Amino acid sequence: MVWNEQDHPRDDDGKFTFKNGGVTNKTNKEILFEKSNKQKELQTTKQKRKNELLDILKDKATPADILYADNEKLEKKIKEYGLKEKMTTNVNKTLWDNPVNNPKISSPYGWRTHPIQNTKKHHNGVDIAIPQGTSVKAQAEGVVEYAGLAGGYGNLIIINHGKIDGKEIKTKYAHLSKINIKKGDKVGKNTEIAKSGGKKGTAGAGSSTGAHLHLEVLEEGKHVNPQKYFKF
Ligand SMILES: [Zn+2]
Repeated sequence: MVWNEQDHPRDDDGKFTFKNGGVTNKTNKEILFEKSNKQKELQTTKQKRKNELLDILKDKATPADILYADNEKLEKKIKEYGLKEKMTTNVNKTLWDNPVNNPKISSPYGWRTHPIQNTKKHHNGVDIAIPQGTSVKAQAEGVVEYAGLAGGYGNLIIINHGKIDGKEIKTKYAHLSKINIKKGDKVGKNTEIAKSGGKKGTAGAGSSTGAHLHLEVLEEGKHVNPQKYFKF
């Protein structure tokens, strides 16, 4: 936007009166300084977006693209190559599916006696009894937020499903023997994300004592009973 003095006439007392009715005591210098800050902000946002786009193009981006192309041009190029943008915003509500075929819960959500510590503890998820090496599938489409070792969880995957009914939903899959995806990957419903593990002493078992999948569902960062989201 171009600054037009006639669009912002000064009152007799030296205040600016904006066309939309606003009044400011700021000096010309202050207004220009704010304006240049806003431009800088816009520049940073544009540059961030450009980096995202170049990331998608990878080796298809030419040096000219990197130096001179604007974001619209890069977006067009991505379309031309049929490349997909990573999903960073809300995910459409999709039907949920079970993480494994014929799931049987060996330990439900809620209070239980912890098998190792022998103390009453809240179980933040459900345990599904399955043989080691069973395919574990994403329950709904989403973006992988974490994939790797995580203490007692052993090998853990966290998928962010975006907002569903206004709440941010994440699922966690633990004690995996093999992880098939990586952070930032987009997964669809039923994408095989891992093989189950859970046998004590195996890689990725964490604190698990028997072969099972530990599954958690979080709404806005708080655990809920996963059975709310899938049927057995
Ligand atoms: Zn568990």
